[in-house]
Amino acid sequence: MAHDWAPTTGKYAVDATNDRIGEVRRLLEGTAYLVPPGGGREWAARPDQLRKPTGEERARALTWSRPVVSRARSTRHRGYPEPPVVLPVRAPSLEPVPVQDCKVCAHAAAWRRAYRTGKGTADGHTDHSAALDCSLEIRNHPHEPRVTGLPTAAPALRP
Ligand SMILES: [Zn+2]
Repeated sequence: MAHDWAPTTGKYAVDATNDRIGEVRRLLEGTAYLVPPGGGREWAARPDQLRKPTGEERARALTWSRPVVSRARSTRHRGYPEPPVVLPVRAPSLEPVPVQDCKVCAHAAAWRRAYRTGKGTADGHTDHSAALDCSLEIRNHPHEPRVTGLPTAAPALRP
């Protein structure tokens, strides 16, 4: 476990004993109580067995906890019984590829590049959390509804 990290109420943490991610709801008398992203049965864990989620784990947790995304998914797959979402601990990739000829995807990809490099953002700084949101938007194709509040203008193109 990294020494500069400790479970915090309201933040995500991963239970190292079973690799489940959850939001820390309470920290009481040496026990942490977590709930799965998007809701579910609370479980207890020892705080020293919690670890910081990776960027991937955090991004997936955010996807589950956003109701707009799951609603968009369930309408697209209408007619099928919906099995519980069980994702492998190691997801193949969080680098969704923009769909060709989709303006929203291209826009999100441009901003993802800008946030990662700091080139074209308003303050010239990188913002990896915002870049992850761009990836979520690309994966959210066809963007009904859109999940991120991306700037409407394209990033400024500076060499
Ligand atoms: Zn798209």
